[in-house]
Amino acid sequence: MTMRIDGKELARGLRAEIAAGVAALKAEKGVTPGLAVILVGDNPASVSYVTAKGKACAEAGMLSREIRLPAETTEDELVALVKKLNCDPEIHGILVQLPVPKHIRDKAVIDAIAPEKDVDGFTPINVGKMMIGEECFLPCTPHGIVKLIEFSGMDIRGKHAVVIGRSNIVGKPVAALLARKETNATVTLCHTGTPDVGHFTRDADIVVVAAGRPNTLTGDMLKEGAVVIDVGVNRIPDPTKPKGFRLVGDADFESCSKVAGAITPVPGGVGPMTITMLLWNTLESARRVAK
Ligand code: NAP
Repeated sequence: MTMRIDGKELARGLRAEIAAGVAALKAEKGVTPGLAVILVGDNPASVSYVTAKGKACAEAGMLSREIRLPAETTEDELVALVKKLNCDPEIHGILVQLPVPKHIRDKAVIDAIAPEKDVDGFTPINVGKMMIGEECFLPCTPHGIVKLIEFSGMDIRGKHAVVIGRSNIVGKPVAALLARKETNATVTLCHTGTPDVGHFTRDADIVVVAAGRPNTLTGDMLKEGAVVIDVGVNRIPDPTKPKGFRLVGDADFESCSKVAGAITPVPGGVGPMTITMLLWNTLESARRVAK
């Protein structure tokens, strides 16, 4: 029978551990971990992500500083704010919710974040450290994905993992993490230049799909018993829902769940883990300061 990998359950356990760590840090060192989340504009998906992050932060006992800026904010203004937060002793983690409006370059903003407060793990310094195996903040979604695979009971070592998608925030770092000595998977990275993705996925023990397109992965592309991590979050119009849409992943859940040994649902799989690993990194950042 196919196991539904419950990201909420795994996240709940880890968040309880994080909350205990926060309480201990406050009691022993008088330090409260603080996360600043900056949102530029009012993209509805971004608003809900930022709200969820603030709520999770508060529930873990952390200081949550949510900064909402108008869509017309300039790149210079945003960079100046990030630099101010870099020097703010109450703040241990800085996150700029992406995407930012088109007139602002992601790179300019990410580069402005001090690597020691880059709890998203997006700065070139943290990405480079991850690649060469130095201590760093691991990017939240990829780190959460590795935890979900482990939670499914799969021993990753020696397995063939196929990652569909090569973005800098999901596909590439997931592939890099799974190929590290600790996890020791053999990794294939597929993208739109891969002529036949199914040729690779049919041989995979683990498939991570992060394409941003519904139905990128279907049951006929899977080996019996494979573990499937569906990263995609896609809004599909659905007049029967109060909001007029529903969320689906990149995998066709119905056909994949007939073949997979374990699969994450959307929602309720990767999403809760992304926020959890953000809290994890923020606590770690505060611990480093308190040492
Ligand atoms: P992205 O930047 O759009 O990258 C998508 C990647 O998938 C690209 O590398 C693209 O290839 C590849 N791709 C697209 N269609 C494909 C196909 N049919 N076959 C093979 N490869 C294909 O997306 P992203 O930022 O990585 O995000 C991916 C999805 O994950 C989105 O739905 C996003 O909303 C979701 N997401 C969820 C979370 C979470 O916490 N739950 C976090 C981050 C992202 P090319 O490079 O060749 O174009």
